[in-house]
Amino acid sequence: MTNDCTQLYIVATPIGNKADLSPRAVDTLKNVDIIACEDSRTSANLLEAYGITTKLVSYHKFNEKQRTQEFLQLLQAGQKIALISDAGTPCISDPGRILVNELFDCGIKISSIPGACAVITFLSMIPRNTEEFAFVGFLPRVKNQQKKLFKKFAPVDTVFYESPNRLLETLENIKQTRGTNTKIAVGRELTKMFEEVKTGTVEEIIEYYRTNILKGEIVCMLYADSNSDEQESDIIEKIKKLKSLNCSDRDISSILSTLYGYNKNKVYKLSLAV
Ligand code: SAM
Repeated sequence: MTNDCTQLYIVATPIGNKADLSPRAVDTLKNVDIIACEDSRTSANLLEAYGITTKLVSYHKFNEKQRTQEFLQLLQAGQKIALISDAGTPCISDPGRILVNELFDCGIKISSIPGACAVITFLSMIPRNTEEFAFVGFLPRVKNQQKKLFKKFAPVDTVFYESPNRLLETLENIKQTRGTNTKIAVGRELTKMFEEVKTGTVEEIIEYYRTNILKGEIVCMLYADSNSDEQESDIIEKIKKLKSLNCSDRDISSILSTLYGYNKNKVYKLSLAV
């Protein structure tokens, strides 16, 4: 159901499985005046399947600024607009940021109609020990910039989007930067017929994709490095606090490994040294 005050709707569309368009998204797309979309051929295909005949207007990274001004005038004249992208949630590694920022500043009421998003779909289906994660979108193309990023985000599970053509090269770069035993999860073709999830060390994943099909849409997660310097200083801080409460080294290693999933032996050794 469209909301009377809302003027711009950010509408999530499926990331591969057409059945994942929500009833509220369908209703909204039918009732707005125009739908701003990245590629009208891709969107027309989906909209046709749901009997949505609303007018489509292009909004992509090459005309974002110009369209933003045009949409602002339409909205100020009382029209309602929905923004969609080729797949998933607009503004998540997709166009829309310029429009949202500008309209927000102009006091236009914006609502989001939630739905599929590759990063969240993936995170919900792989084994993890923490709520924390960093999402970095597409990685920089330059190898050294990638390396900097892998080091910077070492203390936290890091999710990124990748193309099948570049995946093996990226995995080799991860291996060089973070070591052969770094844990990785790869999600391919999520929500589609040939959906696949692989987890293992970077070495194992490279080996797997050297001999198995590597095409389609890909999302990856680089597991946090439990030996990273930042995590170590975090552990030391916690050890100091527990020591001030007279906890023994053995108790400290049990408490911190239970509460935070740290390696028990590592905490014990650090505790002896503090
Ligand atoms: N806005 C989208 C979202 O909400 O996830 C992402 C758009 S981004 C331009 C497209 C990238 O997302 C793809 O290149 C791929 O890395 C990832 N992706 C999209 N659909 C996917 C799927 N079904 N399975 C795995 N990754 C997917």
